[in-house]
Amino acid sequence: MQTQDILTDLGKKLVSNSLTDERLLAETGNSQQSVMILPDANVVKLGGQSLIDRGRSAVFPVIEEIAENLKTHKMIIGTGAGTRARHAYSVGLDLTLPTGVLSVLGTFVSMQNARMIHYLLAKHGVPFIEPGQFPQLPLYLEQRRAAVFFGMPPYTFWQKNPAVGRIPPHRTDTGTYLVSEVFGCKRMIYVKDEEGLYTADPKKDKHATFIPEITVAELKAKDLQDVVVERAVLDIMENAQHQREIQIINGLVPGNLTKALNGEKIGTIIKAD
Ligand code: ADP
Ligand code: MG
Repeated sequence: MQTQDILTDLGKKLVSNSLTDERLLAETGNSQQSVMILPDANVVKLGGQSLIDRGRSAVFPVIEEIAENLKTHKMIIGTGAGTRARHAYSVGLDLTLPTGVLSVLGTFVSMQNARMIHYLLAKHGVPFIEPGQFPQLPLYLEQRRAAVFFGMPPYTFWQKNPAVGRIPPHRTDTGTYLVSEVFGCKRMIYVKDEEGLYTADPKKDKHATFIPEITVAELKAKDLQDVVVERAVLDIMENAQHQREIQIINGLVPGNLTKALNGEKIGTIIKAD
């Protein structure tokens, strides 16, 4: 049998043509949709500055709510970095360090937060996993219903430079979102400290109005000065195969996480279309 015979039509083109040929690339999207690997798991991001940095008054009720929901929901829990990362970024910038190095620093801070959240959930048998342990995630979800990971995408110094400035553009909102997309997860829930998206940062503008639901295109058209999730998430959502919706909720209000896990339309829902 010729090697060519075992290849599909697309396979023949892929081995003999350039992977930068636009027409060939378009054909790779023509077959069936990619598989949804963990369709019944929810990715829950616990905010760094918005939640974890507030300490026990904010964190303990959320830990309790996560524990209560283990019976009914599978959760892949990612952590933000927050204020300590911003301090590290400021020192790094002062020391003239590049984006890739700042990304390394942010990774370790989100790791600190993941360790803290994990130890609080440890008595429920919830493990902490690093990127190399993601292959075990299905087992952990099946057996323990949840796992904690650090939200930074593990690019470290391979992080690309932002268009403006030097702060790593893909941080923990992005890392958690990417996990929910690649595994085809049920929901992507951001647990922060505001009801959701407003027309402006509600901490700075008393007249900011709440936006319960919006599409990425509508949100981009508004050209807001500031938004509640990393802008990279909105960009990536435009090409999402599975996770075409994210939800931002206020984790300081007890019961909100449970409602979101149960599919209630609380907070803000941002849709790709
Ligand atoms: P996290 O620690 O979860 O990453 P961030 O502090 O980075 O959270 O982002 C959430 C914060 O974004 C909110 O607490 C809010 O003050 C701010 N924010 C900025 N712009 C907006 C907006 N348009 N709507 C809502 N919140 C906004
Ligand atoms: Mg943030």
